[in-house]
Amino acid sequence: RQPTDLNLLAEEYLQLAYQSLRAKNKTFNLTLTTHLDPTLEPVEAVPQEIGRVLLNLITNAFYAVQQRQKHELSEYQPEVTITTLASLGKAVLKIYDNGIGISETIQQKIFQPFFTTKPTGEGTGLGLSLSYDIITKGHGGTLTVRSEEGHFTEFVISLPYAVPTP
Ligand code: ADP
Ligand code: MG
Repeated sequence: RQPTDLNLLAEEYLQLAYQSLRAKNKTFNLTLTTHLDPTLEPVEAVPQEIGRVLLNLITNAFYAVQQRQKHELSEYQPEVTITTLASLGKAVLKIYDNGIGISETIQQKIFQPFFTTKPTGEGTGLGLSLSYDIITKGHGGTLTVRSEEGHFTEFVISLPYAVPTP
């Protein structure tokens, strides 16, 4: 583990995910926003692991807004927003999308390995279970979801600045 700047990681992995979205979908009109707290202290983390989590969450968010656009008749503006802030002695990173959302029943299952609602070939169902383990077991943090079906989803990562020794 090393001192890790979550703002830098957020920028880096948002770019990476966006480039891969662009390569597949050249005309997709997406509003990407970042609200990054410049005073956020670095966290003790494995940057590649946190990066992997961000890539999973951002890729899911991009998928969700594309799905919603397929079903929406008009006037829908896809949005993905990443926010960082310090709260209650932890570093917090939020990934918000105004995509299809997740019903309460499905929310109970999304962190289980191999759970997916995506067609075969489009999802392995491993992204969130892996992300959950990286954040909780690997870094002593929490990963939670807030969502309203048909409207929005927000994943919230909360990380201690220093990982407690077990
Ligand atoms: P996969 O993306 O391969 O399906 P994940 O573990 O990343 O696997 O996600 C599991 C399921 O959680 C998805 O199939 C989807 O149903 C739901 N999900 C995850 N993120 C979102 C999101 N941002 N919006 C809507 N549904 C989501
Ligand atoms: Mg996924």
